[in-house]
Amino acid sequence: MLEHDVIIVGGGLAGTRAAVEIARSQPDAKIAVIAKTHPIRSHSVAAQGGIAATLKNVDDTDSWEAHAFDTVKGSDYLADQDAVALLTQEAPNVVIDLEHMGVLFSRLDDGRIAQRAFGGHSHRRTCYAADKTGHAILHELVNNLKRYGVTVYEEWYVMRTIVEGGTAKGIVVYHIETGEIKVIRARAVMLATGGYGRVFNTTSNDYASTGDGLAMAAQCGLPLEDMEFVQFHPTGLYPAGVLISEAVRGEGAYLRNVHGDRFMETYAPNQMELAPRDITSRAITLEVRAGRGVKLDGSAGGPFVHLDLRHLGREKIMERVPFCWEEAHRLAGVDAAEEPMPVRPTAHYSMGGIPVNTRGQVRSSADGLTHALYAAGECACVSVHGANRLGSNSLLECVVYGKLTGQAIAEDLPTLKQPDIDEAKYLREANVRVQALLDRRDGERIDAVRQDLQDCMSEHCSVFRTDEVMREGLTKLNAICDRAGRTVLGDRGKLWNTELIEAMEIESLTVVAQTILHSALQRQESRGAHSREDFPTRDDGKFLKHTLAYYSPAGVEITHMPVALGMFEPKERKY
Ligand SMILES: Cc1cc2nc3c(=O)[nH]c(=O)nc-3n(C[C@H](O)[C@H](O)[C@H](O)COP(=O)(O)OP(=O)(O)OC[C@H]3O[C@@H](n4cnc5c(N)ncnc54)[C@H](O)[C@@H]3O)c2cc1C
Repeated sequence: MLEHDVIIVGGGLAGTRAAVEIARSQPDAKIAVIAKTHPIRSHSVAAQGGIAATLKNVDDTDSWEAHAFDTVKGSDYLADQDAVALLTQEAPNVVIDLEHMGVLFSRLDDGRIAQRAFGGHSHRRTCYAADKTGHAILHELVNNLKRYGVTVYEEWYVMRTIVEGGTAKGIVVYHIETGEIKVIRARAVMLATGGYGRVFNTTSNDYASTGDGLAMAAQCGLPLEDMEFVQFHPTGLYPAGVLISEAVRGEGAYLRNVHGDRFMETYAPNQMELAPRDITSRAITLEVRAGRGVKLDGSAGGPFVHLDLRHLGREKIMERVPFCWEEAHRLAGVDAAEEPMPVRPTAHYSMGGIPVNTRGQVRSSADGLTHALYAAGECACVSVHGANRLGSNSLLECVVYGKLTGQAIAEDLPTLKQPDIDEAKYLREANVRVQALLDRRDGERIDAVRQDLQDCMSEHCSVFRTDEVMREGLTKLNAICDRAGRTVLGDRGKLWNTELIEAMEIESLTVVAQTILHSALQRQESRGAHSREDFPTRDDGKFLKHTLAYYSPAGVEITHMPVALGMFEPKERKY
C-alpha cells in the first residue's frame, strides 16, 4: 500500500497553497498532491480578473474592515463573520507572500502592485496579472511544489475517500494512464477538488469541474453546506458560456440592452455595472424576459445583452483585458474594440460545499468534526461567501484558507497516526465498480444522460426559481439519476480510458445535483444568488441559517446550522 503523511486531493490554488504551507513548517513530512488533471490544468489556471487584498496601493482609505463589510453585505449576511475577518485580515500577507514567490502581478508606474475595481467592492483593491491572474499564481505555486519536494501524482482519479468511524484514513485512486487501482493511506487527508459548474449546461468552468470532492464527502455520510447557492456570472460569452471577466466592467465597460440603454440604472443606480453578480445576473435575465435582449441579427427579443467596451479604446483593452478580447474574437467572431460582445449569465461558482471550520477541519454535523479530514478552496464551505460571492474573493479564499488549513494540518500532524486500512477490501470494491462499468453491454452512452442532467438543472434550478419548477426538475432528475447508473461505455480498454472517468464523474454530478435541488426547495426565501419568485424577500426570522444536506441513495435530508454573526448586523442590501 502506498502511504504519505498528508494526501491533498487537488492541484489547484487551494491544494498547492496548503502543500507549500505544510512543507514550510514540517520539512520532513511526506506530502502528496494528487490530481485528475495535470496540476497546472486545474481550473484555477483560468481565473482572470484578480485577487482582492487591501494593499492600499491606489486607495489609502481602504481597510480590512471595509473589505469585510463588502464581503458580508455581498453574502446577503449569510457569511460566517469570523471566517470573513480572517480572510480579509490575512489578504495583504498572502498576496505579498505570492509576490515573493515570484508571481508576476501587473504594476503601477511606481512599481507597486496595481489594483482595479471589482463588483460589490467599495474600494479599488483587486490585484491582478492582466486578465490571467490564476495562470500567474498557479504556475508559481506548482513550481514551489517541486522546490519543497512534494510528491505529485498527476492524472490520477480519486474514486473515493476512506472514512471509518469518523476518521479519514486515505483514498482509493485510479491511474488514468495505466488503469491501475491503488489504495493510499495517510495520517491526514485534504480535499481541494474545486467546483461543480458542469452540473449546468452553460458554465464558465472546465470539463473537470464535476464536484467529485463534494460527492466523495457526501458518500461518506458527511453533510454538504448551503448547496442552493450557485453563482451565475452575469457575463458568459454567448453562446459558449465561457467567462468574460468582471475585470472588463472593472475597467469601465457598459452593459446595454437592445435599445442601447445601460439598464443597470434600473437595478443598481449607484454601483451600476459593478453591482454584485447575483443582482447583475438577475437584471440581465429580466431584460431578456422583457424582450429587451438581443438576437444575433441585432433585433429585439433575443437571449443575450451587450457588453460594450468600445469607449475604452483598443490600447487599454489590449493592455488590461487582452485575453477577454481574444476569447470574444475567437469564439464569437467579435472585435471588442469595434463591436459589443454578446453575453448572458453562466453557471460559475459554488458558494456551498464541504462544511469546514476556520482550521479547514471538515464538519460531520453542525457541532461535530471528522478526524484527520480537511478541505479548502471552492469545494469547501468555510462560508466567507454566504449566499453570494464577490469577484476576486475566491482566489483569495483559496490562498488564505489553503494556507490556514496547511498550518492546521502541520500543527495536528504530531498527534495523527498512520491508520490501519483493509487494503484488499477497498481494492476489491473499486475493481468491482470499474469492472461493472466496463462489462455492461446495454444502456445509454454517457453524453446523452449528462446533457439531460445539465439541461434539467439549467431549466429547473437557475437564476430564478419556484417550488413548482424545482419539483418538476426533481422528478426529471430522479429519472436521469436512474439512467446515469446504467450507462454503457464505447471504450473498454485500460489505457487512457477517459470515458470510464466520465462514467465516474457523472455519479458525482448526480449527487451534487440532488443536494442542490433539495437544498433550494427547502429555502423558502430569496437571499443572494438563491432567488425564489414565490418567496421574493429575505426572511431572516426563518432562514438566517446555513443548510446542511445529507445525501444517501434513499434521498437527501436537510438540517441547519447557525450563522456566525459579529461585526455587521443584517440590513437590507442596496447598491
Ligand atoms: C473562468 C473562471 C475565471 C475565474 N476568475 C476568478 C478571478 O478572477 N478571481 C477569483 O477570485 N476567482 C475566480 N474564479 C474562481 C476561482 O478561480 C476558483 O474558485 C478557484 O480557482 C478554485 O480553486 P481550487 O483550488 O478550489 O480548485 P481548482 O482549481 O478547480 O482545482 C481542483 C483540482 O482538483 C482536482 N480534482 C478534482 N476532482 C478530482 C478527483 N476525483 N481526483 C483527483 N483530482 C481531482 C483537479 O484535477 C484539480 O487539480 C474564476 C473561475 C473561473 C471558472
